[in-house]
Amino acid sequence: MKTPSDFRAEAHKMADRIADYFEQVEHYPVKSQVRPGEIFGQLPLLPPESATSMDDIMADFEKIIMPGITHWQHPNFYAFFPANSSYPSVLAEMLTAALGQQGMIWETSPAAAELEERVMEWLKEMCGLPQNWTGVIQDTASASTLAALLTAREKVTSFLINEHGFNNNDKLRIYCSTETHSSIEKAVKIAGFGRKNLVKIAVDQNFALLPDELNEAIERDLAAGLIPVCVVATIGTTGSTAVDPIQKTGEICRKHNIWFHIDAAFAGTALVLPEMRHFAAGLELADSYVFNPHKWMFTNFDCSAYFVRDPEMLIRTFEILPEYLKTKTRGQVNDYRDWGVALGRRFRALKLWFVIRSFGVEEIRNKVRKHIELAQWVAGEIEKSADFELLAPVPFSLVCFRYRPAGIDGPDDLNLINERLLNKLNTSGLVYLTHTKLNGKYTLRMVIAQTNTEAIHVEKTWKLIRDMANDIHQT
Ligand SMILES: *Cc1c(COP(=O)(O)O)cnc(C)c1O
Repeated sequence: MKTPSDFRAEAHKMADRIADYFEQVEHYPVKSQVRPGEIFGQLPLLPPESATSMDDIMADFEKIIMPGITHWQHPNFYAFFPANSSYPSVLAEMLTAALGQQGMIWETSPAAAELEERVMEWLKEMCGLPQNWTGVIQDTASASTLAALLTAREKVTSFLINEHGFNNNDKLRIYCSTETHSSIEKAVKIAGFGRKNLVKIAVDQNFALLPDELNEAIERDLAAGLIPVCVVATIGTTGSTAVDPIQKTGEICRKHNIWFHIDAAFAGTALVLPEMRHFAAGLELADSYVFNPHKWMFTNFDCSAYFVRDPEMLIRTFEILPEYLKTKTRGQVNDYRDWGVALGRRFRALKLWFVIRSFGVEEIRNKVRKHIELAQWVAGEIEKSADFELLAPVPFSLVCFRYRPAGIDGPDDLNLINERLLNKLNTSGLVYLTHTKLNGKYTLRMVIAQTNTEAIHVEKTWKLIRDMANDIHQT
C-alpha cells in the first residue's frame, strides 16, 4: 500500500467492515471464549521480511484475532464498567490517526490545545461542575488521580520533594475508604508515599465512607506528628457505585487544610442529569475531580476528564523546561505537557467534540437517563422476586444482586451457587456480567450503561438469569 489511491480503496473496504461489525455485533459471544495462549500460539514466531497484502492481513484478523475479542460494544455487555464507543467517536479516531498530532505543546498542534480547552469547558457546563475549575484530558482516571496525589504532595511540602526527593520523609498520609478503587493504592505507591501511609476508612451499610471515622483518623495522625496530605472520595465506587458523603468529607478537608480529590470515573457522566446532581452536593469543596467520558459518555477509550481548582499548582508540579521546548507563545497558551505525566499527547479532544456535537447534550442525557431507568427496572424485578436479592442500593445503573433460592442458606453454598450462575451466564456467550464481594457475599454486578443497550436486551437478560438460575438449582 503505497499511494493515496491504494489507501482510498482499502479505507472504503474498512468502513464497510466496521459498519458490518456494528450491524452484527449481537451475533458474537460477548465474552471471548478462547483459552490462554490460544491467540499467541497462532501468530508466527518472526515478523515478515516482505510486504503482506491487506487482504491477507484482514483474513488473519478475522480468523485469529476476532475470536479473541471480548465485545465491549455488545448491548449485552454488563461487565465491569463500560468502555463505550459510538459512530461519531470512531469517525473522529480515524481523523486523529490520520493527522497523527502530537500535542505536547501548543505550537505542535494549536487546534488540539484550543479544542481541548473548549471541550473541557463544555463538560463543565454539561455536568454542572463548579465554574472556577479548569479541565485537562488525561489518558485514564488512574493518571488523573496520580496527578492529584503528586500535586497534593508538592503543595504540602512547598515543592520540596520535587527538588530533593523524599529524604526519609515517611510521615505523609493519604485517606480513602475501604471501597475505593485500586488506582488510589497504585498512585500512592508510584508517588512515593508508601502503601503503609494509605489509611483506609470504614464504610457504612451502603458502602459509603464514614466521615466521623475519617475525622478521627486524621486527628489521631496529627496528634502522632503525621502529615495528612490528601483525602480521596468516590462518587460511584467500582464495587457497588456507592457515593461517599462529599459535603462532609469536603468540610473535614477544609478544616484541616487537606487536598480533597474526588474520583467519579464511571458515575460522573450521570451529572449530565440535573436530577442526579444531589449526589455531588459539596463538589465545590474539591481541589481536583476526575470522570471518564471513555466509560459512560460514548467516547471511545481513552479519554479521562480531570478538573482542578488551581491549574498553577498542577503545572508547577509537572513543569519541565528544556531548551528545545522553549517557545515564544509560552504563558499565552496551554502547553499541556505540563499538565500531567506524559510529554507526548494524543489529540483526544477531537472525539469528544464529535460526540458532543453529533449526539447533542439532550441525546446524551436521554441515553444516560434510559440506562438508569432500566437499572431501576431490574432492581424492582429483583425486589419482587422471592429467589433473588439486592445486595446494595442502586443509585445509578449498576445492580448488585445474588440468587437466593429457598432451601439454600449457608453463606458458602450461596457463594458457590452464584459463582456457578455467573460462569454459566458468561460461557453462554449471550451476556457478560462480572462479580464482586460485598460483606463476604459473592455478588453479581449488572452494569446497564452500554451505548447500544435497549429495554429489550435488559428484559431478555433478566429472563436468561432467572432461567439459568433455575437450571442450576435443579441439577
Ligand atoms: C474505572 C475506575 C477507575 C480506573 O479508571 P481508568 O481510567 O481505567 O484508570 C478509577 N476509579 C473508579 C471509581 C473506577 O470506576
